[in-house]
Amino acid sequence: MTLTSTPDRAVIGRLPAHLIDQIAAGEVIERPASVVKELIENALDAAATRIDVAIDNAGSTQIRVVDNGAGMSRDDIALAVERHATSKIRTAEDLTAIGTFGFRGEALAAIASVSHLEIVSRRDGGDAGYLMFWEGGTLIEQRETGAPKGTAITVRHLFYNTPARREYMRTPSTETKRIIETVTDFACGAPEAGFALAVDGRDVLQLSPAGDVRQRMVDVFGTAVADGMIAFDAGDAELGVSGLAGRPELGRATRDRILLFVNGRRVWSQSLLHAATNAYGETLPHGRYPFALINVRVNPLKVDVNVHPTKREVRFARDRSVYDLIYYAINRVIFSSATTSPVMRLHTDAASVVNERLGLSATMTAQDRVSAGERGEALPDSSVFSQKTDPNGTVAEPSPVPERSHFVPEPAAYVPSDADGVSNVWQFNDVYIATVVGDELWIIDQHTAHERIQYEDILRRMNERQPQSQQLLFPETVQLEPTAWNLFEESLELFGSLGFQVRPFGSRTALLEGVPSGLRIKNPVTLFRRVLEDLEIARKAGEDLTKAAAASTACRSSVMAGDRLKKEEMQALFARLIHTQNPFSCPHGRPTMVKIPISDFDRKFCRK
Ligand code: ADP
Ligand code: MG
Repeated sequence: MTLTSTPDRAVIGRLPAHLIDQIAAGEVIERPASVVKELIENALDAAATRIDVAIDNAGSTQIRVVDNGAGMSRDDIALAVERHATSKIRTAEDLTAIGTFGFRGEALAAIASVSHLEIVSRRDGGDAGYLMFWEGGTLIEQRETGAPKGTAITVRHLFYNTPARREYMRTPSTETKRIIETVTDFACGAPEAGFALAVDGRDVLQLSPAGDVRQRMVDVFGTAVADGMIAFDAGDAELGVSGLAGRPELGRATRDRILLFVNGRRVWSQSLLHAATNAYGETLPHGRYPFALINVRVNPLKVDVNVHPTKREVRFARDRSVYDLIYYAINRVIFSSATTSPVMRLHTDAASVVNERLGLSATMTAQDRVSAGERGEALPDSSVFSQKTDPNGTVAEPSPVPERSHFVPEPAAYVPSDADGVSNVWQFNDVYIATVVGDELWIIDQHTAHERIQYEDILRRMNERQPQSQQLLFPETVQLEPTAWNLFEESLELFGSLGFQVRPFGSRTALLEGVPSGLRIKNPVTLFRRVLEDLEIARKAGEDLTKAAAASTACRSSVMAGDRLKKEEMQALFARLIHTQNPFSCPHGRPTMVKIPISDFDRKFCRK
């Protein structure tokens, strides 16, 4: 049909209601995690203190949210799935001061239109529960039923009638991760409520109501994280900010762990995330982001939450003052703790390199090291200069001959000989190694070169299914946060093929019994955590996980800039590098080797 062929007839038609709902659903319900979000919001709005979430197949076959909140009467259940039906606002004034999560009255209508939806609910004091069931928004069944007080909502076959939306879903593991994050976010924003999450029948989260947000952090992220967080509070009743700022060593490679809430609502704001990151100044190396929980309290009149269909974004009457408040509140606690915690400064990668160079690692006491290690944190790469501590805890002079970390050349490692032409080697600034080959000067970067060598070794072993593992003397338990735990459970095989001996060991705890052998590993727990973190990033970017795992393990166990190497180690690096398939770049694409022909020198010295 074209517009010109039927000039007299109306071409505009009114859409049927179910189609309107489906179109609207596209905005509110983008993916299974949006359903989880809307249902939890409704439960919290109904003053629930206990919310149980269960999903199957990444939410595509079933999402179930059960709460112990106020419940709904039979008439209310019917109204709840009508579009623009809400109990939360009545007038335009109400809209200017939103105190609940929901107010648009769209979510249940949208969910109903693209799924099989069942609601079972009983009000406090109501004598029986009531059940209603819809398919694609059409009521199929309703009856009285026995039910506990509260509401149980089950969403099956999400997007069954919108194939385009189904196509648009990412991999099940990505969708599952988003759901876990959604529940985790709400749990951090509402510590007073209990939460549970089961994924395909496995318990991923079991949180009893917590007294305060710090306790909630312990339950969700573990004591290692919670202990590394400093409370802050600033502002007044009109506009205030409070929360927990993680010490710099908890820094992450992504912004995902800046948990920002406005009046309990999880929101995203480029500028406020920036405020939080900036507050750390130089204590966070470039490319790292803080771990922080930030709750902005603002008079509801001063914030507009109705600027985005899923209410992800909010608009403040005074944007700049919110920015400043967050910046100064966090900045103050981070820098006052910085002066009392030398271990913190040493933990940041950049600082540790500088300090090592200056021989300053002696300011880190043995106790600091032990407790940092216990917390599973990255120790700075300073064991090259490991210091001695005498029994009463004072730090002795750093040993004149630096003690070596074990850069263990593999058993089968190449034994250098003069025939390779790498007899003379020089280390420059503890980063670059030079040698002369024919009439060229070859310079390698010791870190990227080692990375390349180990990467190919590890990949080969993975492909040959011959992981080599080295048992730990003392197995270690590692507590993982929910998303990391889920990824870990999905990647057991991958870790095994790398040579890790690691397995689930109780609730969100992994038992690490062995690590890949032949690598330079200082802290097995840190290596394991870092590889898991890198895998998470790789998965988000849609990269090949096997390669990413090999690259990560190689990188996290290679000699670092700043490590002083012995002559044989330098020779081995050269010799093994030239036998790799791609000797000129590391797995991340940085150069490993630069060759400078003698003619370049001749030119510089005007010999030609
Ligand atoms: P909104 O939350 O914007 O009001 P929804 O479509 O999410 O819109 O919900 C519509 C109405 O259904 C709510 O206003 C509320 O009265 C009722 N409702 C939804 N879920 C629950 C629940 N878990 N417990 C009690 N009432 C609920
Ligand atoms: Mg709602």
